Amino acid sequence: MKRHDHKILGLTFFNRSYDELIKQINQEIHNQANCMIITPTTEILGVSMQDEYLTKILASSTLLLPDSVSLIWVSKLLRKSFDRRVTGIDTLYRLGKNKRKTYKVYYLGAKEAVLKKAVEVSTEIFPSFEIVGSHHGYYSADETKAVIKDINSSKADILFVGLGFPKQEQFIYEHRKDIHVPVKITVGGSFDVISGVLKRAPLWMQKIALEWAFRLIQEPSRIKRMSLIPVYLIRILYLEISGKHK
Ligand code: UDP
Repeated sequence: MKRHDHKILGLTFFNRSYDELIKQINQEIHNQANCMIITPTTEILGVSMQDEYLTKILASSTLLLPDSVSLIWVSKLLRKSFDRRVTGIDTLYRLGKNKRKTYKVYYLGAKEAVLKKAVEVSTEIFPSFEIVGSHHGYYSADETKAVIKDINSSKADILFVGLGFPKQEQFIYEHRKDIHVPVKITVGGSFDVISGVLKRAPLWMQKIALEWAFRLIQEPSRIKRMSLIPVYLIRILYLEISGKHK
């Protein structure tokens, strides 16, 4: 745990700048490490309270990035305020536009046509990326070995995993010893955004913490999941304030 990082429910969250994150990612690649970066939202943290396996996954990752705005609110209420939100998608964009380095990357996830478009667009907008491989996220369990073989033969530096929660977290954790890519990071629906299938909220909306509302308008089926977030927030606050978490 670095000096500025924060603990919530006993889990250490990254609380440094994007520049420092990119520095660490570069170092992990240089060291040919086995770095797992997970991007928990309040929902993921909330579910982990009742799911020991998920807690184990989160606890064993190298870095947990505070991805959601409600997590930032929790941290404020607990007086260990995060300096900023650090998301998987922004990390991807910053790496892709990093003028000082190039990365061999592999994209895993999303529907086949969406991924194809995301790869095309990335080739245009991310000068730092060489996309050495990609695979859609709707393969069967029997095909997992072949997908991992393809990832390994690509010799990528970074594996971006956009399989949705909890599939992407489980994938990274369960295959961490078989995947020989130094940095693996969860990116949720980023390929949908890069391809243009989904739009990201405009900056002003992100700034006033309304990105979730913008997403809900585009994906109304998320309402059930989103309605649980206040419940998770209250439980996280209760467990933290009462000191009842493990
Ligand atoms: N996805 C996938 N395989 C699956 C389920 C989902 O590749 O079996 C992809 C889906 O196409 C989308 C992303 O995972 O691109 C979902 O990301 P989102 O951020 O919505 O995930 P969540 O909020 O559920 O973690």
